[in-house]
Amino acid sequence: MSQPKYLTGDKAGIDEFLSRFDVFLFDCDGAYDCKTPTPKPICVSSIGVLWSGDYLFDKVPETLEMLRSKGKQLVFVTNNSTKSRADYKKKFDKLGIPAKVEEVFGSSYSAAVYIARILKLPAPKNKVFVLGESGVEQELDAEGVQYVGGTDPSFRRDIEPEDFTKLADGSALDPDVGIVLSGLDFHMNYLKLATGFQYLQRGAVFLATNVDSTLPMAHSLFPGAGSSSAGLVKAFGKEALALGKPSQAMMDAIEGKFQFDRSRTCMVGDRMNTDIQFGIEGKLGGTLAVLTGVSSKEEFLSEGAPTVPMAYVDALGDLVA
Ligand code: PLP
Ligand code: CA
Repeated sequence: MSQPKYLTGDKAGIDEFLSRFDVFLFDCDGAYDCKTPTPKPICVSSIGVLWSGDYLFDKVPETLEMLRSKGKQLVFVTNNSTKSRADYKKKFDKLGIPAKVEEVFGSSYSAAVYIARILKLPAPKNKVFVLGESGVEQELDAEGVQYVGGTDPSFRRDIEPEDFTKLADGSALDPDVGIVLSGLDFHMNYLKLATGFQYLQRGAVFLATNVDSTLPMAHSLFPGAGSSSAGLVKAFGKEALALGKPSQAMMDAIEGKFQFDRSRTCMVGDRMNTDIQFGIEGKLGGTLAVLTGVSSKEEFLSEGAPTVPMAYVDALGDLVA
């Protein structure tokens, strides 16, 4: 594997690199709503590509504007399933980054597109049992997919003895559920786990928005979306099909929507085992790592590193600095 090219401060190298691509897929952040007093981020040594919590990295709007002025297409690809595309648009607006809601592609949306346009289970058995937050529900609504579970308060309680009986005989189950979709669920409990497992045992298709092992937050790492589905994976003995990075099901869904030429597309991200892996497995023309995020350069410059980007910069804004 050849060494990645270091582009910070190398104007000619940057121009040559950018000229190879028409489309840039951008990872956005890396930490869940980290609270960041301005001007400096207090998240785990600042995590993200465009921003870290409420802290916008230097020259990010200028960099995106420069790419747009060169006619590049931008797509913002995030594994954060707790937020919808509309939520992300609000975040872009709040931070003063021009972006359209159509340019955002999150793992919840990816899952909703997969269910509605690719899986297309015949009615009536096409309802989804959701483990996750409102981001998943909003995107299922947008694609006209029916669901149960999710943020429904009746699932946010302890399991009672009669629940075991009603789950086992099926009377507590919706007969139309044919899919279990697992995203990061901040209200995970045994009732949801047991209900999801019942649907899986009855033949439901097992999907996950994303299976990130960890969720970086201010000062520490927390369990990621993969931890919400892990209980079901253990009980059921089979992995879910993941619709977030690095799963190629997400790449196919993005390509289905934007119709890009993979050889002229570059993935920009901060995490080797999601973002950069996603671009490499998708046979994109290039991958660009930024060092303001989860992975350090030691992770990909070391001998035998499993995932090596094509190029890297200290920060995204170095592309216009
Ligand atoms: N999942 C959650 C809940 C998050 O908050 C984040 C980042 O904020 C992620 C996943 C990772 O998202 P990304 O792919 O944009 O780094
Ligand atoms: Ca990230």
